[in-house]
Amino acid sequence: MEKTVKKCPVCGHKAPSWIIESLKGKGVIGFFESRSKEMKKIYSLSPSVQELIRTNPEYNAQEKHIAIVIENKGEICQSRDVIYDGSHLLIEYFLKHKEPYKVYHNIKKAELISLFKNPKITSIFVFAHGTRHGIKIDGQMSFYCELKGGAKKNYVAQMHCNPGGGMSSKEVGLTKKEFADNSTRTSLQNIKKIKEIIKLIDQGEIIL
Ligand SMILES: [Zn+2]
Repeated sequence: MEKTVKKCPVCGHKAPSWIIESLKGKGVIGFFESRSKEMKKIYSLSPSVQELIRTNPEYNAQEKHIAIVIENKGEICQSRDVIYDGSHLLIEYFLKHKEPYKVYHNIKKAELISLFKNPKITSIFVFAHGTRHGIKIDGQMSFYCELKGGAKKNYVAQMHCNPGGGMSSKEVGLTKKEFADNSTRTSLQNIKKIKEIIKLIDQGEIIL
């Protein structure tokens, strides 16, 4: 029987222990990065992604805006992490279309909870480690059930790994629309998915 080490305090969903273990280290993204030529090419993107985030952390975000959440220890540009690859495409798109947004990084669990409850934030893109039912923020799991309490978001994108089962952000009632799958994710997959999402925004299929 699979040993579990952590469960959602609200719905009782248990994440398998191997997921919790993988969250402690570089995780699955690091595993794939070290094994694929294509992924290595993507890996070299990360410094320019970081530079874009550093120079454009927000646009007109005093009132209603879109949140880009990035799990990051310390300052944004100090580690060569691929976890936020794909966020650069969103930032470029939002700047081009004068769409208010703000990058939230190096945040604590309490701030994550307040982002989901904040009525000024209409949609949220999460770049982090995680499972289908939760996000690793500041070294601990924040389960989607724990983020309830505010009005529904228009859109939540779980751009973190989504294995382990349990309810997604839409399934717990946090958002009207979402992106969430059931498996691990790589930065290359995230980049491709963000391109698809941008097309759907252009077509009016996704309202942020
Ligand atoms: Zn739960």
